[in-house]
This record gives sequence, structure tokens and C-alpha cells, in this order.
Amino acid sequence: MINVTKSYLPDFNEYSRYLEGIWDRVHLTNDGPLVRELEDRLKEYLGVKHLKFCSNGTVVLQMALKALQITKEVITTPFSYCATTNAILWENCTPVFADIHPEDFCIDPTKIEALITENTQAILATHVYGNACSVDEIQAIADKYNLKVIYDGAHAFGVQHNNKALLSYGDLSTCSFHATKVFHTVEGGCIITNDDEMASKLHFYRSFGHRNDDYQSIGINAKNSEFHAAMGLCNLPKIGELIAARQQVSAWYDNRLDFDRISRPTRLPGLEYNYAYYPVVLESEQKLFEVRDALNKEAIFPRRYFYPSLNTLSFIQPYQPCPVSEDIAGRVLCLPLYPDLPEEDVDRICSIVNEAAYITA
Ligand SMILES: *Cc1c(COP(=O)(O)O)cnc(C)c1O
Repeated sequence: MINVTKSYLPDFNEYSRYLEGIWDRVHLTNDGPLVRELEDRLKEYLGVKHLKFCSNGTVVLQMALKALQITKEVITTPFSYCATTNAILWENCTPVFADIHPEDFCIDPTKIEALITENTQAILATHVYGNACSVDEIQAIADKYNLKVIYDGAHAFGVQHNNKALLSYGDLSTCSFHATKVFHTVEGGCIITNDDEMASKLHFYRSFGHRNDDYQSIGINAKNSEFHAAMGLCNLPKIGELIAARQQVSAWYDNRLDFDRISRPTRLPGLEYNYAYYPVVLESEQKLFEVRDALNKEAIFPRRYFYPSLNTLSFIQPYQPCPVSEDIAGRVLCLPLYPDLPEEDVDRICSIVNEAAYITA
């Protein structure tokens, strides 16, 4: 069976050496030494000032909205995982959907300004598949209208934009370290800021709003454990190799897929990419079903990232049309991509996709 992704697992003995340390210290969670070590290494790797390791990539979006005191309208993308929209709704804010760009599938900056009202407070955009949003245009709009910018960087780990971590853009950026992501800690995520005061606020938010007897603010439980940090400490030194292996698998797809009937999103220039996903866009949703069925018959399981377009979720009322996102969401399929996917399996997947994409029913 070949799934859309397969989690990297480090050498078992390497992980168990961290476990021995945990058993010696009996410090299992609550800002432990491995959590701190992972945070330091991540800050160094990404070149960012503050980074809080948290329990997942969803709660950090909620913390971002809360910390920036967003309570009203948030302009956001309809083409993302449901967590992006859900975080806005969970914080009792209103998602206002700006359609995506038809070529790179990130929020279209030319669609944002028309949606700004006196209630708009923030832009929450996703770096889709690890490709960068038009960060400069988005920041210019935010500056003009005094809006906050939050990036859902769940896919953006290891991506460099103009020689800077993509995760360092915006007022706040978040990442997910879920088992399916490029860098993982089984479950986990982080929130990144260059602002000292914001970092301290987030530190309290992560842990019920207090440190010992110092009760500062509201808070939530978004801490992560020593066991999760240990997984991150094992995986982080391998990230260069893992991204290089993903690049190789992507290159095999690039060489063997037939692009007469299949298209691919473009990437922003000046990007050092992490090869997080391999999305292909079919001619129609019908064609997508045919390709998926042909792959499933061979025990190959691609995924519809992202489907449905979030503006069409039943609990979003009233309906806000986003024709580009709805069209792409109906036709895009992410093919299996992980570091040790063998070349012969990529060949087999490409043959099946090429054939199914061409047959006209
Ligand atoms: C995975 C993902 C999330 C959620 O991350 P979790 O760690 O699973 O909570 C949020 N946004 C996007 C775009 C994602 O792909």
C-alpha cells in the first residue's frame, strides 16, 4: 500500500537515548529541557528570534488570533485545511474569503482590498503546499489599512524566501509538526514572532496564563511534552537529507508525468522550496475520480488537498463565492510523496495517472 505520505521515523536507539534521559530526570512535560533544546535548535535553524513549541498547528492559530486581539473580520483563504477557517470561527471571528490566485493557489492579493470594511482586523493566509504567499503585496495592504498579518505556515517548514525563513514573515507565523508534515514531532506545532513582548504573552498563553504563582493572563493548555520534543530533536538534523530526497521524488514525477492533460501550481520566484506536496490538477472533477479510482485499484492512495473549498463549508453562512478556489479544489489531487518512495513506485504511479488522465469516457 502506498499512501499520500509516510512519516519519517528516526533510528530507534537514538530516540531511546532521549528516553533514558527523560526516565532519569522524571520531567515529562511543562517547558522541560528537551522542549527548550528543541526550541533553541529550531530558532537557530530557521533564523528567528522567538519560537514557542506547542501541542499542534491548530491551537497556535487560535493563540495568534487571541494574542493579536482579533475579534471581528479576518480576510482569509478558502484554499487550505479546515483548521485555518475553524480557528477563526473558534475565536468567534468572522472569516471573509478572498479567492486564490489561479496559478499559485495562494490568496490573491488583488482580491483583498475590495473586502476590507471598518470591521476588518487581520489577514490570515496559508502558504499553500509550502509555496509562499505574495508576502510583500500582503504586507503593503496590511500597512495601508493597519491590519495584522498571520501566516498559517503548516506546510512551510524549511522554505526560504529571499534567503529568509518563510516562517519569519507576518506579525505571527505558525507551523504544524504533525506526523504527516515535512518536519514532525508526532503531534506538535509552533508559533513564531520577532517581538519580545508578544513572545512573553504567548509563553503565558501556552501554559494557562501563569508561571508558578504569577497569574498574568488568560491562557490555554498548548504545551508539548518531552517525548514529542525528543522526536523533533532526532528528526531536525535529518531535515536537509529529507528535503533533498523529496526533491528527488518530485523530479521523477516532473520527468515522467504527461503535462498535456495535467497542470501544476506555480511557485513564487526567489523561493527555496521544501517539496512538501506533489499536487496535480486534472481537467475535471470527473477525471480526478477516474485517476483516483485507477490508483486506488493498485492500493495507491493520493489525497484531495484541499477539498472542499472552505467557503463552501455548510457552517459558513451566508455563502461567499470563490470561483477559482472552488474550481481548483474540485480538480486537485496530491500524489504520494515521501523521502523513501522508490523510483519504480513513482514510475508505476505516473503510468497509471498518465493513462487515466487521457482516457475519455
Ligand atoms: C496540518 C495543517 C494544520 C493543522 O495542523 P495540526 O498540527 O494537525 O493541528 C493547519 N493548517 C494547515 C494548512 C495544515 O495543513
